[in-house]
Amino acid sequence: MIGFVDDDGGYMAWLTAHPGGFVVNVRSTAGPGYAVLHRAGCRFIYVPRDDRAYTGRGYRKVVSDDIDDLRAFARSIGRWDGSFSQVCGHCAPL
Ligand SMILES: [Zn+2]
Repeated sequence: MIGFVDDDGGYMAWLTAHPGGFVVNVRSTAGPGYAVLHRAGCRFIYVPRDDRAYTGRGYRKVVSDDIDDLRAFARSIGRWDGSFSQVCGHCAPL
């Protein structure tokens, strides 16, 4: 599991290298109310842009090839059942 903060370049490089991976989008100060799960290839999180939209401006990303790692992350921010506040309906990772 890797977290990206203010590093859109590193984040995009990880997505490119891990097309089968998963991403959780959380606020910069992650809390249980907002943790959205996507697949690495989802167009909502993987359109190149240069405005720090992905890991700056109040958000950061936590990524892994193993969805169970991200469930553990969800628990670590107070989602005790290891669920996500939202699962993207476009890329449908679950
Ligand atoms: Zn998605």
